[in-house]
Parts: sequence; C-alpha cells; structure tokens
Amino acid sequence: MGNYILAFDAGTTSERAIVFDKNSAIVSVAQKEITQYYPHKGWVEHDPMELWSSQLGVAVEAMSLAGIEAADVDSIGITNQRETTIVWDKNTGLPIYNAIVWQCRRTASICETLSSYREMIREKTGLELDPYFSATKIKWILDNVPGARDKADAGQLLFGTVETWMIWKLTKGARHITDLSNASRTMLFNIHTLTWDREICDLLDIPMSMLPTPVENSQIYGESAKDYLGGPIRIAGAAGDQQAALFGQKCFQKGDIKNTYGTGCFLLMNTGRDPITSENGLVTTIGWGKGGEITYALEGSVFMGGALIQWLRDELRLINNAPETEELASKVDNTNGCYIVPAFTGLGAPYWKPEASGIICGLTRGVNRYHIIRAALDAITYQVNDIVDAMKKDSHNPVSAIRVDGGASVNNYLMQMQSNISNVSVIRPDCVETTALGAAYLAGLATGFWKDEEDILNSSAGDTIFNPNMDAKQREELIKGWTDSVGILLK
Ligand code: ADP
Repeated sequence: MGNYILAFDAGTTSERAIVFDKNSAIVSVAQKEITQYYPHKGWVEHDPMELWSSQLGVAVEAMSLAGIEAADVDSIGITNQRETTIVWDKNTGLPIYNAIVWQCRRTASICETLSSYREMIREKTGLELDPYFSATKIKWILDNVPGARDKADAGQLLFGTVETWMIWKLTKGARHITDLSNASRTMLFNIHTLTWDREICDLLDIPMSMLPTPVENSQIYGESAKDYLGGPIRIAGAAGDQQAALFGQKCFQKGDIKNTYGTGCFLLMNTGRDPITSENGLVTTIGWGKGGEITYALEGSVFMGGALIQWLRDELRLINNAPETEELASKVDNTNGCYIVPAFTGLGAPYWKPEASGIICGLTRGVNRYHIIRAALDAITYQVNDIVDAMKKDSHNPVSAIRVDGGASVNNYLMQMQSNISNVSVIRPDCVETTALGAAYLAGLATGFWKDEEDILNSSAGDTIFNPNMDAKQREELIKGWTDSVGILLK
C-alpha cells in the first residue's frame, strides 16, 4: 500500500493537513485559517461548511506539495478541536446552526440549572459540569433553532464533534461515528461502560438517535469517497487534539505525561487501565481505545500559559515579541523576589477560585523589566508544576519526565526552569507536530503501516532533553515563594 499517512489537524484557529512518511518525518504541510465568529460577548462559532471545505482544500494541497496521489497514501488519521458541537440535517447534509466552539460560554445558565446533578455527571463522564463540553451546546441548538426539536424527535438530525463531521462528509454520509476520546468530551458519554448515558441525555432532552456510534481510536472506519482526493483513501484513526498529542508524544506507558505550552497549557497523564477520579480538580478522560483496551488519562489545564507572554507584549509592552523573552529573562540571575500569579480569569486547578484576579508581588525598587519578564516565564512553570503535583497525588505515580510541545516549548529558558522546578527531565521532540503525528500513528497502527508501538518508538526523530540543575534548597525556596503568593489570593 501507500508510503505516506495523511493527517488532518482540524484545530481551533486553523486547519492543517500534514503528509508523514514511515520515519515520522514531515513531507508536506498545508494550512488555512478558520473564520471566527463572535455573535455576542462570550460566544464563539465556526461555519461547519467552511471547516469541511478548508480541511479538504488543505488535504489536496498537502498531497500536491508532496507530489503524491491517493494510491500513495496508506490512510488518513484525524485529530480535531474537541467539544465543538455541530448539528446537521441527515437528509440535506446541511448544518442547522453554526458550530458552537468549545470556548463558547453561552450555556453557563443551562449548567446552573443542572448543578444538583454535578456529582452524578462527574461520576459517569469523568468531567466537571461546564459549558465547555458538548452536551449543553447540543441542548442550546435544539432549544433555540426554530423547528430543530421536532426534527430531532423525528430522527432527522445528527450531532457530531468535528471528527464526526469530517468522517461523515468524507464518506458521503456512510459513517456517523465518533472515536472514544472525542466521545469522552461530550459530557454525555459514560467512560466506564463506554456507552451514551440515557439519564444525562434525558436530563438535557437530547434524543439518542442523534448521537454517533462510538468506535475505537485506531481502526479502519471506511474510505473517503473517491472523487474528493483523486481516489478512495482509508480513514483509519481519530482522536481529540490533546489525546492525539499524548499518543504522538509516545506516552504509551502508565505515568507518562505530556504538556502542550500554547495560549494555555494542557497536561495529560496516561493512567493506564484505571479511570482515576481526581481529588485535586483534574478531569478524567479516555486517552484512547485500541485493540479492545482502554487507556485512561487525567487532564489538567493552565489558563494563562503563552497568553501571559502575549500580555507582556500587548498590554505592558515590556517585550516586542515572545521569542526574545528567553534572552531577556537570562540577563538576570533570578526574579529579585518578584512573583506574578496570573489569575486573570480566576485560579484554576488545583485551587479553584474563579473570582480571583491576578497579582504581581514582591516588588522592591530593585525589580526591573528583566525580573518581571523572568517572573512571567516562571509563573508558567509554577502553574504547570501545581498540575503535575496534582497528577502525582491522584495517580500515586512517580513522575520522572514531562514530554513537551506547543509554541512556547521552543523557549529554552522556560524548559530548563520547568525541569528545575518540577525536578524532572523535560523532553522536547525535534518534531513538534505531535498532535498530527498522534493521528497519523493511530491510523498507521490500524493498517499495519507501523507494526506496533515499538516500531513507532524506533521510527521517530530525536529529542532535546533538559535535566534539573538546581539544588533542592533553592527549588524549595522558590516554590514556597510561589505558594505564599498564591496564598494572598486564597485569603
Ligand atoms: P495555540 O495553539 O494555543 O494558538 P501555540 O502553540 O501556537 O498556541 O503557541 C503560541 C503561544 O506561545 C502564544 O501565547 C505565545 O505568546 C507563546 N510563545 C510563542 N513563542 C514563544 C517563546 N519563544 N517563548 C515564550 N512564549 C512563546
């Protein structure tokens, strides 16, 4: 069969298609930005037809850049922005409303009405009751689009997250499926029984006939219709972006952690066959289902990751661009006692104080611009460390390494500091396209393109490794300073 895998990376800001070869090397990339719609304050939407046509467009472009045809492609793997909700008419194939994006907060009031079910929802789905997840977004569409509920009751409407939509489109409606990792982000899926939950669907008045069939993350789902990509191509893997990154980072063993340093930071820990319920404000999710076995994960996020660096640039105007923070922070030996607690949108896990706001503390006359820039980078590492600690406590797993990716992971100062503060090795793969790579691996394992995980471990490029070089006393003092600073907000 073909010598290449085509990965679809249907992200939040752009859609990309990447062609990988057997050595996990990138052969070509094509990318297109997505139009963001903000119809009201706090609302975020995408046009599902644009999502589909752009994704198909970049796939054709990536194949053409690589100089390959459908017959050269072994299979397609898909990864996507999670939770984003699309409802469409199965007869016309047209969406009945825009895609409601994961960031959209319009259903906060629906969540409030469900607060007495919080525990039940957490127990079954592993998630916190929150507008972030798909369930209340589906309800909103059914309640607000004229005629939607009647059509849904008559079995004419279908729901899907973005991978479901792409697969339905690619197969011209032959397959209405969702992979287990994406299903686990809907807040309608029981992650223990691996079935849609009737009680939650009834509570939200969501007809189960709308829901896609849950399938494993690595299996041949079907073929793309032959006219789209110059011939049929097997679709053989799918996973939500964070889970795909966990897989693409080769976090195959229990206890393995990856962190993506983007606008926010997303940490996932492979917890093996056990769905661990967090005592520290993390969510439990399905990493992937493969070969009849489920790998669960603990997930935690930091709201202000790279966004803090954007704030230094755009609001404080302390820097001209993000990359220069590495050099500027290294001009001083420490932050001179200064800490930034970037609770801009409240304090998240493990503190959970949504009404908190941020502080800069420890200011004296000697604190200069470089100290503040350094304190901002350090704040990212302390927040990540708090989540790593929560994961250690919940899972009882020791952590010896964090595998990293995302835009800010190129910052060597930040990576070294993370290694020092968390006292672990920080491993940055040379191929930072881990999300798309994870989707490619899932597809390639289903078809035999890669034989097994061992084969993948042998196939991939090198890593840059940062090892701790700070003594324990200094680490403890710095962490105490951070904890005391957070404590100011907890009073
Ligand atoms: P997203 O996928 O969330 O859009 P990216 O993975 O593209 O984010 O990362 C972009 C973020 O990383 C921005 O918030 C930016 O401020 C930050 N960033 C980019 N390069 C650096 C750098 N060299 N040092 C620190 N932060 C950086």
